[in-house]
Amino acid sequence: MPKVYNWQLGREMLYPYPESHPKRQFAFVFNINRCIGCQTCTMACKSTWTFSRGQEYMWWNNVETKPYGGYPHFWDAKLLAMLERANPGGQAWNIGAQGNAQTPYGIFDGKTIFEAVSEEQNQEAETFQETSGRVLGYLPSDDEWDAPNIYEDTARRPENLHRRWGGEGASLPAHQSWFFHLQRICNHCTYPGCLAACPRQAIYKRPEDGVVLIDQERCRGYRKCVEACPYKKSMYRGTTRTSEKCIACYPRLEGKDSFLTPDGVPIETRCMAACVGKIRMQGFVKIAKDGTWEKDPDNPIYYMVKEEKVALPLYPQFGTEPNGYYIPPRWVPMDYLIQMFGPGAEHAVEAYVCPSRRMLGLLQLFRVAQKIIARFKLIEGKKVGESEVALPNGKKKTLEIFNDTVVGYDTKDRQVVQLTVEEPVFERPKEHYNSI
Ligand code: SF4
Ligand code: SF4
Ligand code: SF4
Repeated sequence: MPKVYNWQLGREMLYPYPESHPKRQFAFVFNINRCIGCQTCTMACKSTWTFSRGQEYMWWNNVETKPYGGYPHFWDAKLLAMLERANPGGQAWNIGAQGNAQTPYGIFDGKTIFEAVSEEQNQEAETFQETSGRVLGYLPSDDEWDAPNIYEDTARRPENLHRRWGGEGASLPAHQSWFFHLQRICNHCTYPGCLAACPRQAIYKRPEDGVVLIDQERCRGYRKCVEACPYKKSMYRGTTRTSEKCIACYPRLEGKDSFLTPDGVPIETRCMAACVGKIRMQGFVKIAKDGTWEKDPDNPIYYMVKEEKVALPLYPQFGTEPNGYYIPPRWVPMDYLIQMFGPGAEHAVEAYVCPSRRMLGLLQLFRVAQKIIARFKLIEGKKVGESEVALPNGKKKTLEIFNDTVVGYDTKDRQVVQLTVEEPVFERPKEHYNSI
């Protein structure tokens, strides 16, 4: 099997196809701290793309309540358990190697879904007979797809948690009340599990933007992609006998909406543009021939992922190099966050609770324009306050707040938005036509 470089793991890994990269990559950052779980994003996607017969259970965008919820149920707990069985005690990071661009989170010493498959097949042959042989995965049962946000807003372990699903899934010791919303769409991975497992080569990654699509003409509905996607974001449609998945709203990325973008610039996808909590930032990152991200510190996504390291990939240990990044929730125990986002979690929470001036400015630009913000700039303003903030390690730090101005530019480098850190307050005159 060829070897490819996965920068999120800090090492080479096995993958069924050799390196091949798009010129630029669709990528996004979700700020978990701000999500209110309103599901507007979920409904925006469903009412646009998956409202037809056979798509009833297709939630290409879903928001689940962690730690107990998941769609399909227990998708992550099940795969983590499979990886652990395949490599007992070995799914660990070497964080001593953290620091340079090649190994920003350290080196993952465990096995990815592409590397663990043979061990798992040997051990679990009876249970997982359908494993394709290329990727470690499983096919969820129909029951597991039956509710997109089970245990919604549930902080404590529900009494009947295991009754219905026969003991599989999440199980945590009693803990203090905490939960968070995890927003999920297809990660348009650099090394997609779905693409690796498809025996028909029906899945491809677009060279112009890295969007991963399923060719409906070639697909024969073998569901190997459903089995192999570690995030369970490829879904089978019984009425057409093909699999379907998030298409990153590619007509919007191509600037082909004549009403919204007569000038042809890319706009945000439906789920991003509809986000009420303003938690989502979407963009493109420039990719070099060897797959590394070209230096671009004024690009919001590049800045948050590579410079500030405030946004982290979801389960990087699975090995697909997902292009969705998350600012982790600051109130959740660190062990849980490290399992979910890798060893960069502590630094990411710190960089969020006590942000730099540039980061605080950029946070104002989340979801303020339909057009994709390709570049941002900070104009420094006066200091307006300071406060003590608690870091994840318990130490205190002083956060200085400046009323800086932040400007966003579209892909044609035209200004689309300008905001200040402090929201201006306007007092209406006493006499006003709407006064009562
Ligand atoms: S998230 Fe899943 S469906 Fe999407 S590209 Fe990655 S492996 Fe494929
Ligand atoms: S990017 Fe578009 S297709 Fe994908 S989940 Fe969001 S709305 Fe749905
Ligand atoms: S629309 Fe935004 S705030 Fe509401 S659930 Fe979706 S991601 Fe969260």
